[in-house]
Amino acid sequence: MSSRNDQLFEQSQKVIPGGVNSPVRAFRSVGGTPRFFARGAGSRVWDADGREYLDYVGSWGPLILGHADPDVVAAVREAAGLGLSFGAPTAVELEMAELLVKALPSLEKVRLVSSGTEATMSAIRLARGFTGRSKLIKFEGCYHGHGDALLVKAGSGALTFGQPSSAGVPPEVTAHTLVLDYNDLDQVNRVFAEQGSELACVIVEPVAGNMNLIPPAPGFLECLRENCTKHGAVLIFDEVMTGFRVGPQCAQGLYGIRPDLTTLGKVIGGGLPVGAFGGRAEIMDQLAPLGPVYQAGTLSGNPVAVTAGLVTLRKVLAPGFFDALAAKTRALVDGLAAAAHDAGIVFSATSVGGMFGVYFSARPPASYAEVMVCDKDAFNRFYHLMLLEGVYLAPSAFEAGFVSMAHTDADIAATVDAARKAFEKL
Ligand SMILES: *Cc1c(COP(=O)(O)O)cnc(C)c1O
Repeated sequence: MSSRNDQLFEQSQKVIPGGVNSPVRAFRSVGGTPRFFARGAGSRVWDADGREYLDYVGSWGPLILGHADPDVVAAVREAAGLGLSFGAPTAVELEMAELLVKALPSLEKVRLVSSGTEATMSAIRLARGFTGRSKLIKFEGCYHGHGDALLVKAGSGALTFGQPSSAGVPPEVTAHTLVLDYNDLDQVNRVFAEQGSELACVIVEPVAGNMNLIPPAPGFLECLRENCTKHGAVLIFDEVMTGFRVGPQCAQGLYGIRPDLTTLGKVIGGGLPVGAFGGRAEIMDQLAPLGPVYQAGTLSGNPVAVTAGLVTLRKVLAPGFFDALAAKTRALVDGLAAAAHDAGIVFSATSVGGMFGVYFSARPPASYAEVMVCDKDAFNRFYHLMLLEGVYLAPSAFEAGFVSMAHTDADIAATVDAARKAFEKL
């Protein structure tokens, strides 16, 4: 074993399943040894062997200010000195709740949790408790964390109930989950026409970011809103990834749709574990201790984590932030597309705010089925060529990428140069 990375991975596999604490980190999709990181600063990370990379993962989205932002780190140090956790309310949680409610017109009340998974699980329980109904709609390729009811893939025929996509999830638990195709308005209309009165909620990523990047088709989110309103179902926007990543009012502001409930995570913790769910007061007031829907957490609203999130959000909500971030991200995808074109590679790319997708297909996909037919082998070769050039992309053809405010124009130009070399060798 030559490198420290290899040694660490070898040892980790003995005591951690697959050597990782979350499966996509294992590089199974692209092959090779995952990089163990020792340090990050701004747009860069350094691995255990001291190699430097320009980072486009940003901890899978939270690090919108880049690694170890000095203001966030200073605030976290100060907060830690005042006590790590109380299991009792703190003023900083109120500040966070007020900031979120002010930023998002659809949020009248909000509750803080510790992860995106907790936020979506809680939002679904709440929607079911509020409506007294059991069925829910999710879309194939959207990821909403690893809660049992959401680990579902489409059944054999269209419009059938989903099958568990993980061992250990009883079919009874997913029997109420309908899995539809993202961006398919006709299917949504048909299912609501047939089963609207039994549907508790629809949960959707308003920009899909867990099957590469797929923006909503024109009219798709409107169609969900109209059907939910008409049939008394709760519309849940899962903005764990898009929240404060695509714009100051998240995807709901960008597309002008008001969901009933919103789930948040990633950016709102600025790199520490914070999630949230919120929305209409009459729904949120069904939560314990006011109402009959139980939900709780020992570390919910943890003051150190919430401090990291607050400092991050204050910077993110400063005027001009998203114009600058979106321009950087657009420059990156335009540069990558031009480099691929010059090398004669079939490739396309798109961005929404500070998220981007790259596809080895002639045009950006619009559904899970279209994502699945992109050239995965080409991506995997490109991935490793970029890694050698010192660019760290998400280690899977089915993930979105993230640009941070710490990425400079020179970083973007260097990334496009690296891609030119990689495309030439493909
Ligand atoms: C990441 C993500 C989650 C899960 O969040 P965790 O903090 O990893 O539990 C849920 N929904 C979406 C859309 C996500 O991108």
